[in-house]
Amino acid sequence: MDTSATPSSPTYPVIDRVRHELKRRELTVEAIQYITPQMIRITLRGESLSDFVSLGADDHVKLVVPGANGEMEMRDYTPRSYDNESGRLVLDFAVHEAGPATKWALDAKPGSTVTVAGPRGSAVITGVSKWVLVGDETALPAIGRLIEQAGAGDVITAIGVVTDRNEEQQFASPARLETHWVHRPASAVSDPMPIIEKLDGIALTADTFVWVAAEASVARAIKTYLTTGRKHPLPWLKAAGYWTRGLADSSIKTID
Ligand SMILES: Cc1cc2nc3c(=O)[nH]c(=O)nc-3n(C[C@H](O)[C@H](O)[C@H](O)COP(=O)(O)OP(=O)(O)OC[C@H]3O[C@@H](n4cnc5c(N)ncnc54)[C@H](O)[C@@H]3O)c2cc1C
Repeated sequence: MDTSATPSSPTYPVIDRVRHELKRRELTVEAIQYITPQMIRITLRGESLSDFVSLGADDHVKLVVPGANGEMEMRDYTPRSYDNESGRLVLDFAVHEAGPATKWALDAKPGSTVTVAGPRGSAVITGVSKWVLVGDETALPAIGRLIEQAGAGDVITAIGVVTDRNEEQQFASPARLETHWVHRPASAVSDPMPIIEKLDGIALTADTFVWVAAEASVARAIKTYLTTGRKHPLPWLKAAGYWTRGLADSSIKTID
């Protein structure tokens, strides 16, 4: 019999990838609200939402909208919240140099219709009690969900990157939450330095899960800073490029 002491197994975050049946739903705009001057919250309704499922805070659906030449285009949006019983799905749209999805949101009126596909899958993260969440306007819906669904024992540091004070959002959470806001002008959306400077002042233990989503070059620079500058372990890091400056429809779901 092996009597040697069994080392306690290292703890890692578990990321369960759950596949969902891919469904397309025809939905109707019920309500439109500017939650900040540059963030439009749209509530969609449809009976087909009765079996909508989104298990991960950073899931995405595909919004199917008309492109400039009338062809249909698809863009990724985070289900900010949903309610199967009442058949409601809420999406938040960051307003910027308008591509077809932003244009659709800007033009939407109660009664407008749209097709939403997915989510195709969910990445459910467990085994984490310490979080650092970093993201620009496009990541705030996922950051909001992550914060709101955290447990009372969780400790979260969130860094939101927006143009100015008016774009800051409030999130309620049972977790111990510290929120920092980095302000940068729209002309500097691909400058990672203000975010890295903010991160420099934030303590990071090896068992802190760092979640990053922003413009692709920014997310890449932050990942490099974390892995090389801070030696943060890769299993405790998830970085995504939610969009790429100057390129339409160009997300990088996982920055390598
Ligand atoms: C998993 C995932 C979840 C996402 N969730 C959300 C969400 O909930 N809310 C949200 O607003 N966005 C979200 N995004 C980002 C969104 O999909 C992109 O911003 C998308 O490009 C917007 O489509 P569009 O048709 O408006 O612009 P596109 O046609 O794709 O691009 C047109 C031009 O706009 C530029 N552009 C795109 N996004 C931005 C931006 N944020 N700021 C400045 N310029 C930009 C492009 O570089 C391009 O030059 C998410 C992306 C991913 C990958």
